[in-house]
Amino acid sequence: MSNTLWKRINMKNKSTDKTIKKRTVQFRPDSRNLFFHILTACNLKCAHCYINQEQHGTRTLDEDTIKKWLRLFSSSTTSRAIKAVEDTNVIFLGGEPTLNPALAEGIKEARRLGYASVTVDTNGYLFNDILEKVTPEEVDYFSFSLDGSSPEVNDPIRGKGSFDACTAGIRQAVELGFTVSSIFTASTENIHDLPNMPELLKGLGVSRFFIQVIGIRGNSAKKEGTTLQLTKQVWESVVPETAQRAAELGLICHYPTVFLSKETLFECAGLVAENYFVFPNGRVYTCPLCEDYPLHSYEIKDNKLVRRPPLTEMELFNLKIPEGCVMNKLLHPGNLSYDSNGEPLYKIACCMLKEEITAN
Ligand code: SF4
Ligand code: SF4
Repeated sequence: MSNTLWKRINMKNKSTDKTIKKRTVQFRPDSRNLFFHILTACNLKCAHCYINQEQHGTRTLDEDTIKKWLRLFSSSTTSRAIKAVEDTNVIFLGGEPTLNPALAEGIKEARRLGYASVTVDTNGYLFNDILEKVTPEEVDYFSFSLDGSSPEVNDPIRGKGSFDACTAGIRQAVELGFTVSSIFTASTENIHDLPNMPELLKGLGVSRFFIQVIGIRGNSAKKEGTTLQLTKQVWESVVPETAQRAAELGLICHYPTVFLSKETLFECAGLVAENYFVFPNGRVYTCPLCEDYPLHSYEIKDNKLVRRPPLTEMELFNLKIPEGCVMNKLLHPGNLSYDSNGEPLYKIACCMLKEEITAN
């Protein structure tokens, strides 16, 4: 872990006597992540859904295509640097990936090809009996999206009945021996409930807790604009404390760094890391904030990864600005604040930069 920053935070919990560790998970040039959207269809209509069928189509990838595309990204020649499939994590996404009947075969193929880890992000409905078709040896994590600690908070955001379906899915996965994580997308609608999540997740047998910040993309952009977004003050007053509580309970908690001091080094993952966001229409982005625009760096044509000519997201990554992330400045300027001289008071970190909180 030489490329990570560890720092102990001086908060020893008196009742548990646990020391909380916080580290910024720096971008690792020796690893890459494949975020593989195998369809865009979903049974839910979450308020903050970022799926954009206008940009990414309505295709459901068949088994043959999923396998071919997994092979494409398991080849070291695909990469900008010399890397192997053993350094590549694959995350199956949708839409709802379990709606794709080819998911189980995709998981098995990823394992067979030697991917470093295999994760499935799900809304918890677990279609096509997915838990019966794969094993804990084949899936490193099932990651369940839950946006509240009760139906009263979760269901207005994710849909009626979704809390019960998701928590039942978590229980079932844990019982079968799968390692389970949970993702909470924080917005003004549910941030008040975030502190209730660690106890719930601990009780359900969840091991890792990811807190995400809502972006103004997809449905959240169409419907409610910036009213769902959290201020710096609200984020900083709720999220680190909840993460610490989760760690005290034995969960590993991740949350985006979001705000950087002016002095802190800013890095754009598009330049220093290797992430591929693959969509079923063949578009391949390297920055998730660009996904609503035809700015993708690559496309898959005839099962080959083809670099696109300018203008793509790649050209934007090279624009150096004092505010940090270029895409944030273009898409979410409300996140920024300036002093009387027009200098930014802080920078916005790359959305891929995370803090990890653990206890020992
Ligand atoms: S479960 Fe995911 S893909 Fe489905 S509507 Fe909700 S956010 Fe969108
Ligand atoms: S979120 Fe910003 S910093 Fe991160 S890859 Fe995209 S443009 Fe770069």
